[in-house]
Amino acid sequence: MLKLIPVPAFADNYLWVLHDGKRALVVDPGDATPVLAFLKANALELESILVTHHHADHTGGVDELRDTTGARVYGPATEKIPSPYEHLKEGDKVTAMGLEFNVIDVPGHTAGHIAYYTPEVNGRPLLFCGDTLFSGGCGRLFEGTPAQMLASLDKLTALPPNTGVCCTHEYTLGNLRFALAVEPGNTELVAYNAECVKLRDAGQPTLPTSIEQELKINPFLRTRQAPVKTAALHFDASAHDDISVFAAIRQWKNQFK
Ligand code: ZN
Ligand code: FE
Repeated sequence: MLKLIPVPAFADNYLWVLHDGKRALVVDPGDATPVLAFLKANALELESILVTHHHADHTGGVDELRDTTGARVYGPATEKIPSPYEHLKEGDKVTAMGLEFNVIDVPGHTAGHIAYYTPEVNGRPLLFCGDTLFSGGCGRLFEGTPAQMLASLDKLTALPPNTGVCCTHEYTLGNLRFALAVEPGNTELVAYNAECVKLRDAGQPTLPTSIEQELKINPFLRTRQAPVKTAALHFDASAHDDISVFAAIRQWKNQFK
């Protein structure tokens, strides 16, 4: 049995740790300190560090963790990650903690962003998607186009519905506030929001989510659904095709208060 723990860092980051009681891997360690404390408290040896993209809140702890533990570092081939690390692109495979991870290119938030997918951890697939997909939202388009991000999200929604989705930020409640503005009549969304409010009130993470759950409530995965298309037209009257609907929803979210 492996354990999957979201180690909190900064204001709202999760540094995901997967461990078997002896060895561990960490995804996107923006800060070494909470990871080292977690490893020490649980007497774990860090085996691997998986990085999804170059932003500092995902890479800031890589050098210190590599230097103090000797862990192997994996990251996107085309982005600037603290070296040395193994350069990965779509189709590559990584073996870590005895699991095989498939690398998926998901440009949009950053140009070279990658995600890691493994088909079975404790009975279900698992996805580490960095800042590409959040519960109820998606990453901002800092280096990519709406068309790229939509294509990246389409790759993720093609994964099995029960895939556990490990997002790197606790943005869920803010995202759902926007989602409810887009689709006030979505009863699944209303129920999910109530559930997430309860979790946050109890100091619990709302993650991991699942592909199945996100397809029901995430407006960025629902841009081909009638209610989302209609809402997008109110924001941008020229939003008539898949990409312009997605772009309108993204733009609307950027300025949503
Ligand atoms: Zn980022
Ligand atoms: Fe981030």
